[in-house]
Amino acid sequence: MIELHDVSRSYDDGSRRTTALPAVSVTARDGAVLWLAGASGSGKSTLLGIAGLLLRPDSGSVRLGGTDFTRASDAQRTAARRRLIGFVPQQPRLFRDLTAAQNVALATARAVPDPSALSLVGLAHRADSKVKTLSGGEQQRVAITRALQTGSAALLADEPTSALDDDNARSVLALFRRLADDGRCVVIASHDPRVGEIADDELTLEAANR
Ligand code: ADP
Repeated sequence: MIELHDVSRSYDDGSRRTTALPAVSVTARDGAVLWLAGASGSGKSTLLGIAGLLLRPDSGSVRLGGTDFTRASDAQRTAARRRLIGFVPQQPRLFRDLTAAQNVALATARAVPDPSALSLVGLAHRADSKVKTLSGGEQQRVAITRALQTGSAALLADEPTSALDDDNARSVLALFRRLADDGRCVVIASHDPRVGEIADDELTLEAANR
């Protein structure tokens, strides 16, 4: 479970102060999908980064699995992130000339890919295929599998369907649903209304600088 209480974040470039995220509170429950919705620039990525301990908020508190990490050291936050959080960035950097299994193995300390990892996302049959031969949806599944290797209590994804056609988007969303049904806490930042079909909870952000 991830509990965010009154978290906010702004940026100062010297001449101008930008509010990236006005103070918001939200809880991402275990076994549920939380959809962070809102227009581009409304602060979805910023909130996802705060929830994933990648960014520190200017104010408010961040609790993960009941522990308050707001004022924890960078080392403690990194250790918690590695243990608990899988992060699927907006543009996952996969090695296109390596196989799906090799890409997943790179996220772990293992030299040999674990064949069961890709079966969890329905891709066991493509484990030895080079990433460049996979569809967009299959590549997204490889990125999700990789994220699950580094922490799987919570899975956070930034616009995971934005580059996918309808079929691929729906199968990736069905996968997120299943991963939540297995007990994980899933958070999806997205302006894609299809996410609403699989979400349990929703927070719509409003752009602050209008
Ligand atoms: P979204 O994910 O909803 O598109 P973001 O969280 O990426 O929104 O950004 C929210 C606002 O904060 C935007 O106006 C963006 O330009 C600004 N912002 C985000 N990151 C930075 C940064 N590192 N420096 C300055 N402004 C930023």
